[in-house]
Amino acid sequence: MRIVRVALPIPLPRLFDYLAADATEHDIGRCVRVPFGKGDKSGVIVALPDSSDIEPARLKNVLHIQRDVPPLPADWLDLAGFAARYYHAPLGEVIALALPPGLRRADAVSGDDIDPLLDLSPDGVQALAAPVRDNKALRLLRASQQHGLPARRSQLRSLPDGAGCGDALRRGWLQVVSPSSAISHTGPRPEATEAQRSALDNVLTTPDGFACWLLQGVTGSGKTEVYLRLAEAWLARGRQVLMLVPEIALTPQLEQRVAARFPAAQVVSLHSGLAEGARSRGFVQALCGQADIVLGTRLAVFTPLPRLGLILVDEEHDASYKQQEGVRYSARDLAVWRARQRNVPLLLGSATPSLESWLNAREGRYRSLRLDSRAVSASLPTVHCIDTRRQKLSEGLSPQLLAALKTRLERQEQSLVFLNRRGYAPVLSCPSCGWVSHCPHCSANLVVHLADRRMRCHHCGCDQAIAPACPVCGDQDIKPFGRGTQRVEAFLTEHFPQARVLRLDRDAARTRSQWEALLASIARGEADILVGTQMMAKGHDFPQLTLVGVIGADASLHAADFRAPERLFQQLMQVGGRAGRAHLPGQVLIQTEHPEHPLYRHLATHDFDGFARRELDDRRGAGFPPFTHQAMLRADAPLLDDALHFLQHAQRLASGIAPPELALYDAVPMRMTRLARRERAQLLVEAGSRTVLQRFLGEWITMLRAQRTARQLRWQIDVDPLEI
Ligand code: ADP
Ligand code: ZN
Ligand code: ZN
Repeated sequence: MRIVRVALPIPLPRLFDYLAADATEHDIGRCVRVPFGKGDKSGVIVALPDSSDIEPARLKNVLHIQRDVPPLPADWLDLAGFAARYYHAPLGEVIALALPPGLRRADAVSGDDIDPLLDLSPDGVQALAAPVRDNKALRLLRASQQHGLPARRSQLRSLPDGAGCGDALRRGWLQVVSPSSAISHTGPRPEATEAQRSALDNVLTTPDGFACWLLQGVTGSGKTEVYLRLAEAWLARGRQVLMLVPEIALTPQLEQRVAARFPAAQVVSLHSGLAEGARSRGFVQALCGQADIVLGTRLAVFTPLPRLGLILVDEEHDASYKQQEGVRYSARDLAVWRARQRNVPLLLGSATPSLESWLNAREGRYRSLRLDSRAVSASLPTVHCIDTRRQKLSEGLSPQLLAALKTRLERQEQSLVFLNRRGYAPVLSCPSCGWVSHCPHCSANLVVHLADRRMRCHHCGCDQAIAPACPVCGDQDIKPFGRGTQRVEAFLTEHFPQARVLRLDRDAARTRSQWEALLASIARGEADILVGTQMMAKGHDFPQLTLVGVIGADASLHAADFRAPERLFQQLMQVGGRAGRAHLPGQVLIQTEHPEHPLYRHLATHDFDGFARRELDDRRGAGFPPFTHQAMLRADAPLLDDALHFLQHAQRLASGIAPPELALYDAVPMRMTRLARRERAQLLVEAGSRTVLQRFLGEWITMLRAQRTARQLRWQIDVDPLEI
């Protein structure tokens, strides 16, 4: 009998020992099913210890060791171990998060290649040479020759006569071939521009091994093309490429672009929107070394990759790389650790890097690559502020913006009005008594959704019919105040009756297929004016889009979070970057009451570096990250006092062990105190050195875990929090 030590998805920082008759060293890293409490649980074997703290007689037997898939390799367990230590989360929880839930079931993980590599057979060559009667299979053969062979079946099926694929296989014109050096051969691709060439040369001539590159390239400069060329180089070396993107659902084109570029490579997408089976299959393909490119969202950073050669992180500044619940990890930061662990290069790309990464590049910890002009269009869009202080606005839109929209309509070009607030109006209010539509469960207002006559809380999902009259005084004249995308859409539809107005936000695109349909209809030129939220800011390329009008941005200028200006600048630069990406020149108009604000001035000159320098000066002065390192202890409970008392107690415990360099702040209610009937409070700790902070956190959290807490109190630690 061997003892196996198992990490289980339990919110406790400990491992559990079991007995397994036939376990060997080769079982470390394997999934295992074990009895736990009254039921059973799945976990991963992390060690085979010689002895246990538990008496041997009390150890239970494992139920089943999953041996149909290779074990998770040691470097993967180390990555999970690092994430657990750094984010102070139980190892079992990190593993549970990192593993696809379906992995434990053998059917999800059969090693069959469901997307085989196909090439012309000798019969196929003959069929093409002999002028036989034209048919679908034959047309597909011709098309696939042009596309490049060998290619994956999924690639051939996406060609115009792709339906002929099965027929061509039955006739023996196509045959399954084994992956070979052809993996890196590419579909059609443009010549690299001079700037792209120089960035590529820089990376490609650097000796193998760990290096962290920051590719800062303006919107439309062709960063994706650089990623693809680098991927090609590492595929040719027989290595796997991990490419992280913020949200796959928002950029369906990227998946197609990658797959079409490398028709012979096994491209695997990994994101939480996948069905369980597909996610497990992709994970196992990566683990077995079959997958050549893994394209995924933050959780894909936990993909086991035996042949890993290169990591790419697109839009590295994006907040969605940070998980905001459970294990609060940053996939970008873990990617850097992973690249160092595996001694491979990593490239972070963005038009608007996070100030952390920008400073790292500036101070030489990262290597800097720049693409300062656009790949196709002659120039970046012009950016102007419209001073709205002495203007009469129509539903929030200035005469200048309306005139600019009209001009685009006349020229049959597309425009985008950007307003980062969905719904019809942010609140319903009574002019007689001052009643406003508060959410009953949150410190937030219910947003008016006129389209389906509902009021909704965007935080807890609470949903009610719009009140016909004021619930306090009975006045029937209650009114929606402020505006969201629905209201702007309604106004524009009325104002420009000849225009086709299309709204793009989470209400218009609830599912991925709805979103894809909307994007496709824009690409076909079926819309003249788009009204969109930040969903529209990312990665899209619409050649006919030449005007971006920004309204309602000022609200973020004065937000309390010290990262608000950084986020606003990034968002506006990204959304402005949608204008004039092809051959038509673009224009960005920003409505503001603060046209002199430095943020807008830097934006008008596309001066990200100037903005970053100024912002970092402010942060240095105020002692904010990246000049200090932070962790946030948050607590929530039905009663605010319970949350605050816990944090005050935590603060007393901390002051007993805190080194002098550590700053401990007071417990305070969170800005949005109430969320889904729970009151929330937080306590910030800060230190100049990561090591000091980490050492303190380790000790503190052990103490906190030993405390008895009020009923229903929950607490979590957030290391490197994004929201303060
Ligand atoms: P970014 O990711 O930097 O915003 P993209 O990679 O999306 O930019 O490229 C912007 C546009 O320029 C795309 O339409 C792309 O096809 C095109 N493009 C990129 N590089 C080249 C090139 N070397 N030659 C021609 N077109 C290019
Ligand atoms: Zn009233
Ligand atoms: Zn709510």
